[in-house]
Amino acid sequence: MGSEGHNKLEGLEKYRWDLVNCERCSTCKWVHAWSVKSKDRAKICPSSGMYLYDAYSAQGRFDVARGLLEGEIELTDKALEVIYTCTLCGGCDVTCKFSRDMEPLEIFHELRKYVVEMGKGPLPAHMPAVESIQKNDNPWQQPKNRRGNWARKMKVKDLNKEKAEVLYFAGCTYSFNADLQKVAQSTLRIMQSAGVDVGILGNNERCCASPVLKVGMEDVFNEYAVDNVNTFNKLGVKKVITSCSGCYGAFEGHYPGVAKRNYDVMQSMMFMDQLIQEGKLKFNKKVNMRVTWHDPCHLGRGGEKQDLWKGEREKWGVSNPPRKRNFGAGGIYDAPRNVLNAIPGLEFVEMERIREFSWCCGAGGGVRSAYPEFAAYSAKERVDEAKDTGAEALVSSCPWCESNLGDAIKADGSKIKMLSLVELIEMAL
Ligand code: SF4
Ligand code: SF4
Repeated sequence: MGSEGHNKLEGLEKYRWDLVNCERCSTCKWVHAWSVKSKDRAKICPSSGMYLYDAYSAQGRFDVARGLLEGEIELTDKALEVIYTCTLCGGCDVTCKFSRDMEPLEIFHELRKYVVEMGKGPLPAHMPAVESIQKNDNPWQQPKNRRGNWARKMKVKDLNKEKAEVLYFAGCTYSFNADLQKVAQSTLRIMQSAGVDVGILGNNERCCASPVLKVGMEDVFNEYAVDNVNTFNKLGVKKVITSCSGCYGAFEGHYPGVAKRNYDVMQSMMFMDQLIQEGKLKFNKKVNMRVTWHDPCHLGRGGEKQDLWKGEREKWGVSNPPRKRNFGAGGIYDAPRNVLNAIPGLEFVEMERIREFSWCCGAGGGVRSAYPEFAAYSAKERVDEAKDTGAEALVSSCPWCESNLGDAIKADGSKIKMLSLVELIEMAL
């Protein structure tokens, strides 16, 4: 590898200690032993579950990163496959940290940034979404001037012209996907019925840019982050509410490292839970249904506040200053469960892998576009787990999860329904 490549390894160099000191203990592949409910559902890493070789787990990707650092390997097609067949779900991150001060997810981001800097990424399959974000401000090849169409029949404040306390940020998928627009419409109707002073940006809403961050294009992501934060700051809103767990993960987990904001961010289920607790959202009807809940990775593990640590690894790998480690347990798990438990008539049952040990739907990290068979495998695993609870519906609150799990249900011909939690709320009003 030439000197040009080595200069670009600076980002990975910061993690040399982690890469060298990974114990290859495989803890990152499994749910913690005391939380395992059955041997068939002990896995937490969908990538190693699908591909079965160590290379496709966190420890294997550490080996790839270390090999690149040491100049032992090149960015071959196989190495690129290993790097990109990861949903960035964070399962390994929370399980590794139980006993080790390591940062698997940060390392995977650095690895993808390096691939992009070397001109080998994103993969061709990622490019339609990447180019569409840069041209249309959404990954779905849709014109900007149709973004606000989901709300055109609704009476709602236009924050480009008026003031409101709350900005509802629908996100790209809930704005454009014909099957999922109902989620944005329901969310807005519910907020309005609870008396919330809410408005939208319509065609001027722009992608949160999470998809470009996930494939390694941090510079492009940062431009979007700064622009979105500036736009939201100027609106003078107290809160930004988004239905999309991917947008929430970007707004809460990554934007604070890029720009300073003057508003709070909540995912819609956190806000609905608050409205219920405050007595502003009251249920009048029973929903007689048995349901189970899928924790979206970006709301659960990824919804835990991040420590924006900047420091040094000293002797024996001691972090100076000490860093707060996120174990995933502080993610957004209670809010959707509180909402489910508040809906009259609803019977809520849990799957085996829940909260920080949830199994990923398989859509994240650019996997759905580049490795659809892997995305389908992960979703089928989750749908089977949901079916085993006897639930009539699998419920979530993320367009990526709803779409990928919904496709797996269709492919399987199962009777279980895929629902967004907001649909259940509206049924109960
Ligand atoms: S990444 Fe962490 S959990 Fe996985 S093998 Fe290395 S030290 Fe063990
Ligand atoms: S982020 Fe998820 S898919 Fe990627 S290595 Fe970790 S557990 Fe496996």
